[in-house]
Amino acid sequence: MITTRRNDCYASCKSDQMLSVQLCGVTRASSPVMTHAEVRADRKPPSILQDKSNIERRKRQSCYPSRWAAQFPSCGGLRQSPINIVTSKVRVNSALPPFSFIGHSDRVNVTVQNKGHSAHFALPPSVQLTGGGLTGHYRAAQFHFHWGGDRRPGSEHTIDGERFPMELHIVHIKAPYSSLAEAEHDMAGIALLAFLFEESTDDHPHLDTVIAALGRVQNNGSSTVISSFRLRDVVPPADSLHGYYRYVGSMTTPGCEQAVAWTVFHRKLSISSRQLDAIIRQCRFWTGQPMTDTFRPTQPLDGRIVYCSMSGAAQTPVVHVWLCVFLVVFWSVMNSHMTSTGFMGEELQDV
Ligand SMILES: [Zn+2]
Repeated sequence: MITTRRNDCYASCKSDQMLSVQLCGVTRASSPVMTHAEVRADRKPPSILQDKSNIERRKRQSCYPSRWAAQFPSCGGLRQSPINIVTSKVRVNSALPPFSFIGHSDRVNVTVQNKGHSAHFALPPSVQLTGGGLTGHYRAAQFHFHWGGDRRPGSEHTIDGERFPMELHIVHIKAPYSSLAEAEHDMAGIALLAFLFEESTDDHPHLDTVIAALGRVQNNGSSTVISSFRLRDVVPPADSLHGYYRYVGSMTTPGCEQAVAWTVFHRKLSISSRQLDAIIRQCRFWTGQPMTDTFRPTQPLDGRIVYCSMSGAAQTPVVHVWLCVFLVVFWSVMNSHMTSTGFMGEELQDV
């Protein structure tokens, strides 16, 4: 059950501030410690200090997601992610079959690293996918999560305006490319699988391993290894994931490469409020600030079409059919019962 629907405007504004931190972490040329030149600058006349202050202010402002495009032109492109998916406007596409996952049941060692703006869980290239309407093989590179803050949801994609507590991204690179740099010139060079989380009363049985690992990489650059990790413990089997949305988009952090075939699954993963609170408290940005609200605001669709797999779209009519069957049976039973007890029979008319 969803219990954390929040004001998206607040979350987006908060995200704008926090993501400014992560981008500065990527592009910032110096450490937070002042350089000799900066120390000297402190002794210069006020007018020069004022100029320096303006430069620093401009630098900080350029870090806001809304200003990424100034430094990374792709971030201002027409195929940006994430997006808000409006379910009444998606187009059913019968050419979107289920996926085949390879290596999801293998037990592998996963290196987890705090990248200063997010924590990445590196996957071996033996983890792959095919199908899902994509051409060829895609090798897994890493997975990571996007989350909010104290009682604030933090998914990147929203569905009909609703933001979910957390979102899992599994990044795959198309073979034979071996890096994002190689894949970025192919509109479907990257396959990103997205799972939205919903809050549940019970703990997710396998997320505590992830939480514990995040607790071991609290600071920028720190890393740890999860041994004998099985992706299957977090990601449901492919045969239970027939329903999904598909659109072409981008990476959600700079340089916003427009090379991503996005798949947002209908099926939600569960996480308890205890686990969610634990996740958002584990890591710190490169600045030392708590790593919270790690999502980019939704981007304009700019004329793109969001497709829905046939099996996903077919869920609604099936539910309706079963609801109709249930109502017919229910009504028949009730009618029979009420007639036999005289609740609606001639006895009432005699009163
Ligand atoms: Zn992501």
